[in-house]
Amino acid sequence: MRLYDAHNHLQDSRFTAPEKIMAATDGVGVVRMVVNGACEEDWPLVRQLAEKFPQVLPSFGYHPWYLHERTAEWQKRLVAFLDSTPAAVIGEIGLDRWKPDLPYVGQEEAFVWQLQLAAERNIAASIHCLQAWGRMHELLCDTPSPARGFLLHSYGGSKEMVAPLAKLGAYFSFPGYFMHERKARQRAAFAAVPLDRLLIETDAPDQLPPDSANRFPFHDAGGKMMNHPANLRAIYEFVATERGLQLEALAAQVEENFSRLFGPAPALDSVMRRTT
Ligand SMILES: [Zn+2]
Repeated sequence: MRLYDAHNHLQDSRFTAPEKIMAATDGVGVVRMVVNGACEEDWPLVRQLAEKFPQVLPSFGYHPWYLHERTAEWQKRLVAFLDSTPAAVIGEIGLDRWKPDLPYVGQEEAFVWQLQLAAERNIAASIHCLQAWGRMHELLCDTPSPARGFLLHSYGGSKEMVAPLAKLGAYFSFPGYFMHERKARQRAAFAAVPLDRLLIETDAPDQLPPDSANRFPFHDAGGKMMNHPANLRAIYEFVATERGLQLEALAAQVEENFSRLFGPAPALDSVMRRTT
């Protein structure tokens, strides 16, 4: 079975041994993962990972949490990374009104500019949104977005907004964090996601799933428990049960969705040869 992680951050410095991480994800069948750079410092790291591991689909963007760090050349640099990195996509970008003390000013402009860039190139964009769903919907209505669609990662909006967002081209990825008992509202929203728009993600090293799904426990240097990308399979199993599907049927559907949104994987054959 071939599994696809729609969203993680393998470049995060809390991952000190990417080779070991990739050996574990190979072991559970992960053939492709979208690795999201969230600021300029991340972008070269993401590109290096993509050069080293064919499973890595490189994604470059400015996340609202780090926008205050942007240099005067950030847009030029982003375009240069996209131009010089094969198969690259855009993300993580978005809006955030949840994080305490995070300035909102400037977020919409940066988000809209990056979304338009994805639209011009018709490449996927991965979007973060916390407590800004009304405004997100308005901006998505008013801004050209990629004809192939875009990803709302860890979708936490309402059940009612799923259909209008899907109409605009949205895909929705389910993180292991939503397996926690208290995330019933988010699970109910996912029940409304059309099967052909459903993706699955770890968001590793963040969004730790419950202990039952944390099959690859690991800690950062400070001893804090982190989320391992190989937990992806446990999330697939959970979503299959939620949707009343056989695991193989869900995996086939997610593979189709992932390829439609993110493009064909040129290295897929070689990855499969390595893992079988
Ligand atoms: Zn993320």
